[in-house]
Amino acid sequence: MGIRTNVAQAASSVVTWGLRTLARRPAANLPGIVGLALDPALIQDLRGRIRQGSIVVVGTNGKTTVTNVIADVLERSGASVACNRTGANLKSGVASALLHTRGADWGVFECDELWSANVVPDLRPTYFLLLNLFRDQLDRCGEIDRIQDAIVSGLEGSPNTTLIYNADDPLCEFIAQRAAASPARASAPANISFGVEGCMNLAQNAVADATICQSCSSMLTYAYRQYGQLGAYACPECGFTRPTLDFAATDVRLNPHGLEFAITGKRAGERAQLAARLSGTYMVYNLLAVFAACTVMGCTQPQIQAAVSAFDPKNGRLQDYRLHGRRTLLNLAKNPTGFNQNLRIVGGDGGPRVVAFFINDRDVDGRDISWIWDIDFEELLSQPNIQAVFAGGSRKNDLQVRLKYAGVDAQLVEGVEEVFTRIADAGDVAPDAAVYAIANYTALPPVKAALDKMAAAEAGASASEEREPPQSAVEEFAETTVGSEEPASDDGFDQPPVRIVHLLPDLLNLYGDGGNVRVLKQRLAWRGIPVEVQEVRFGETLDLDAADLLFIGGSPDREQRMASEELGRVRDELAAYVEEGGPVLAICGGYQMLGRTWLLDGEEVPGLDILPLETRRPGTSADRLVDNIALDSVLAGRPVIGYENHAGRTVLDGDAEPFGRVISHTGHGNTDDGPREQAVDGVRYKNVIGTYLHGPLLPKNPEVADWLLVRALERSQARVGRGEALQLRPLDDAEEAAANEYMAARLIRR
Ligand code: GLN
Repeated sequence: MGIRTNVAQAASSVVTWGLRTLARRPAANLPGIVGLALDPALIQDLRGRIRQGSIVVVGTNGKTTVTNVIADVLERSGASVACNRTGANLKSGVASALLHTRGADWGVFECDELWSANVVPDLRPTYFLLLNLFRDQLDRCGEIDRIQDAIVSGLEGSPNTTLIYNADDPLCEFIAQRAAASPARASAPANISFGVEGCMNLAQNAVADATICQSCSSMLTYAYRQYGQLGAYACPECGFTRPTLDFAATDVRLNPHGLEFAITGKRAGERAQLAARLSGTYMVYNLLAVFAACTVMGCTQPQIQAAVSAFDPKNGRLQDYRLHGRRTLLNLAKNPTGFNQNLRIVGGDGGPRVVAFFINDRDVDGRDISWIWDIDFEELLSQPNIQAVFAGGSRKNDLQVRLKYAGVDAQLVEGVEEVFTRIADAGDVAPDAAVYAIANYTALPPVKAALDKMAAAEAGASASEEREPPQSAVEEFAETTVGSEEPASDDGFDQPPVRIVHLLPDLLNLYGDGGNVRVLKQRLAWRGIPVEVQEVRFGETLDLDAADLLFIGGSPDREQRMASEELGRVRDELAAYVEEGGPVLAICGGYQMLGRTWLLDGEEVPGLDILPLETRRPGTSADRLVDNIALDSVLAGRPVIGYENHAGRTVLDGDAEPFGRVISHTGHGNTDDGPREQAVDGVRYKNVIGTYLHGPLLPKNPEVADWLLVRALERSQARVGRGEALQLRPLDDAEEAAANEYMAARLIRR
């Protein structure tokens, strides 16, 4: 060890002592931060402390659980292990774990996806375990391609590392193929794949994060899909396909309290079995990853099974409590896929229960919460016995609005304690109703701390105080607070449905924009106006004569190019629709495409030339405009609140009218070129609104939604030959207004 390393070790030992003894904190990051400041090559310098080998665990969902179970398996097999068990997964977290060990047989390190580019070449791990890639923190990552680039570059910097990866995820398979083809990895060991063989027959979610082949940009087809983009995919054009699996889970059996599956495959040896008292389909993938990794690291099936059986997470991931006589389950969910999996866990429990969601928007959570609109909260409607739903966290108002549009009446709470007091006070929740608390990244620790405190207090109290629920009471509470999706028609409109056309939802779907369509639809339904949403997917025919409102969302560039080529086929019809006053809401990528031209990596792509604007894109995709934003628009009395995430810079023709003027202290709108006081966003052209605002736009800005709906209604009336002017009855928008005001207060200098 060199002098620098010694100094770094000494300084971080002091920091560790201080944190653990004085502040009673786990010292998971700060020692590494201090150590790396003194010795930037610290990880390289300390990697020799790991004697046998190390594994780095990367992936959007499941890292902490998989890392902990692998470390448990290795410890059970008699090895000493260095591990960042608490989930501190930046470079400092890995460095801290190395600083805390004097020497270990194995290193097991969870690592952030983007940071892996930096950590892996320094650490030179024996194995790199890639679990999955879902969109998460798009404001930090830009687009998923960037994460893939980071992972490939990390692997290139450590050519002897074996990649073990989830081949059911086409995004991971693509990484595996790129790594295998990279000259830097010409002598690398062969990749090892795992996946689930056979369809698990799960209901599909509305939005998948990857739909097209990354080799040739064709639509992927699936023999079966498990959830998200995971499944048995193939590209009909270029032959990109899920490979033969080295470790395949088969005969998967799931119930609300546990799971079981067999493992076969080229590398799996004899057919093995694994069972766990953990719920959730995603745990099948997590435990399969554990099995694959531990098997190649030399552990046996009984060692793996024993560690899995004993695994009792105390870190808020699927953590079980018994509080006030209620089963209470706490879990982390931080992206649509994770949340959807959690809703399935809630759905698997048919008994009386309440659900509380907590969403924060700090930097590490992702400041953009558009993604909550891609969670299938609508599934709660079909789940019987949900007796109350709560929304907490700093973005509780947004969550409440999201749930409102899913037909779910959610109560706002300040913390999880309030959930328990509310249900105790309300008297209409069964005494034995379970509590499910689901929280995103920074929302989780306070919920966990509160639950831990309640558990400790109860453990101290006399067991005899616990009251068993009277059996008869349970039935009385069978009624749920969850409303019906289609409220009864009250205004008695007698007319054919207003037709909202959602263009290419299979390509343009990554930024929660589909929420706009949900809002438009519900605001008509709540007024008793018949409404129909038609999704026109890639390859399907668009009938504009039967359309009253068009919606086009945003997407990463690859999908945007496909979408723009597809829409190019109906360019003239679209232009005629716009010229005759057909209403359109076009967001971000969808907005760019309607202009004259836009740029893709420096290449000029012709737009549809319908709107008076063009989009320029200086710099790389890292040079993005990503932030909260508020506008002053003539279409709304309140500020229009949204979130932007784009690389393109759009310039309006001289006489074109913007959608609004930027009035927030963050965000740029069309472009960051020019004085801030003159910053504008979007365009208004005839009855078209083009804008960069995700968020999505309409839930917090219902006036804009109604502006579009008035025009859609006019068109639909005209279509059926009726001339009378229709008024839109005002709705109770108190929840939308509260969500708007909360953000306006944060964003606008007054
Ligand atoms: N790909 C486009 C850009 O980055 C649009 C992205 C989006 O729709 N958010 O400019």
